[in-house]
Amino acid sequence: MTVFWFRRDLRLEDNTALYHALNDNDGVLPIFIFDKNILSQLPPDDARVTFIHNQLTVIQNQLQKTGKSLAVFHGEPFEVFGKLLSENAINAVYANHDYEPYARKRDLELYQLFKEHRIEFKTCKDQVIFEKNEVVKDDGSPYVVYTPYSNKWKERFRNTPLAHFQSEALLSKIASHSYPFLSLKDIGFTPSSITVTPYDVSDSLIDNYEATRNFPALNKTSYLGIYLRFGAVSIRKMVAKALQSKNETFLKELIWREFFMQILWHFPHTVHKSFKAKYDEIEWENNEILFQKWCEGKTGYPFVDAGMRELNTTGHMHNRVRMIVASFLCKHLLIDWRWGEAYFAQKLLDYEQASNVGNWQWAAGSGVDAAPYFRIFNPTEQIKKFDKEYRYIKKWIPEYHSPAYPEPIVDHKAARDKCLFLYKKAVG
Ligand code: FAD
Repeated sequence: MTVFWFRRDLRLEDNTALYHALNDNDGVLPIFIFDKNILSQLPPDDARVTFIHNQLTVIQNQLQKTGKSLAVFHGEPFEVFGKLLSENAINAVYANHDYEPYARKRDLELYQLFKEHRIEFKTCKDQVIFEKNEVVKDDGSPYVVYTPYSNKWKERFRNTPLAHFQSEALLSKIASHSYPFLSLKDIGFTPSSITVTPYDVSDSLIDNYEATRNFPALNKTSYLGIYLRFGAVSIRKMVAKALQSKNETFLKELIWREFFMQILWHFPHTVHKSFKAKYDEIEWENNEILFQKWCEGKTGYPFVDAGMRELNTTGHMHNRVRMIVASFLCKHLLIDWRWGEAYFAQKLLDYEQASNVGNWQWAAGSGVDAAPYFRIFNPTEQIKKFDKEYRYIKKWIPEYHSPAYPEPIVDHKAARDKCLFLYKKAVG
């Protein structure tokens, strides 16, 4: 028997490793593991777990049409595979690559286990167009600046036809088995009350994306984040969509995603450490009371507060506002970017370690291709540019302009001066 292991590729269509598993073998057992190592850190109504379970249900329903079924397990992957190996004669395990440090360590341990049992572990690129060392400088070193990276990405892309893997046409090769499809309740979770917005990659959205993407009140971004995160859509299909438009801005965003993925691959230490080491010498004030007010959206800076309330209520925040709240936390409140990164990791539906760490370090000034530290967003000026009618702000702060709305917790000018002083002291 051959095992296909779903991880961040929760779809039957255009799934690279699933295609190879089915094309190369008869009798493929499709599995998903709810990993206790990950689940134990989440609240029981975590919206991402509900999303994953819903996607698995979509897969299960599709499989059941052909009399097949998905096996869902709950445990630590090493133990689950130990059990599977004891119950079946397995020749190979197929999966798609995952580039996060935890996943790389897990896969390495499993590789050793499989090797001991003479089982092949066949893994494929699926969640990106280019991975690892595929887009590097001519001397083989990784790019740490976006523009030259994206130029090389596009150059390579022009010479590489976009593949489509017709996994969906081979489902008859899935094995019959008696493993269960666990419910949310079986894994100790309950459905989340958060509704995930459907994604939109219509021609009109992509054609107008450049003009509309920066205005949070318009809601004119794709909402693809969570779908890409869990592989509910194929990145190849999304890039093909982006290419249909004359406007390149949307494609550029998808390339930012790959830029940060390769940064995390080459520099996994940036999860914990600043990419520019000197930035770890900044004397963060890390005031817990101010941090709490930031989390709750009660800073008295309306753009910041609207963003944090959007995040707390929906699990989403518009990109422009993410930049404003992140800059505010690091530069106005002098709180370590890692605190903000961790809070976003808890709350964001589309939480993606590479993009979250990369963008937080960008906002703090400590990362690759980051804005210079002395460029400090003025959260009030940003309103004039991006929400001048206060539509987004009033949506999320009904008490705005009433005595119930808090006074600013820090003075902009004083905070800015202190930030410049402390950054300069650390990084010169
Ligand atoms: P769209 O604007 O429609 O963009 C389409 C897709 O392009 C996104 O889904 C995403 O995959 C990619 N993309 C767009 N902007 C970026 C970017 N700056 N960096 C990397 N990829 C990008 N994005 C995440 O996917 N996960 C995160 O955890 C995350 N954390 C962030 C933290 C901060 C502080 C900031 C400033 C940005 C963060 N982003 C993150 C990037 C960006 O805000 C989101 O990708 C975007 O808002 C998701 O909404 P959307 O799908 O409607 O995006």
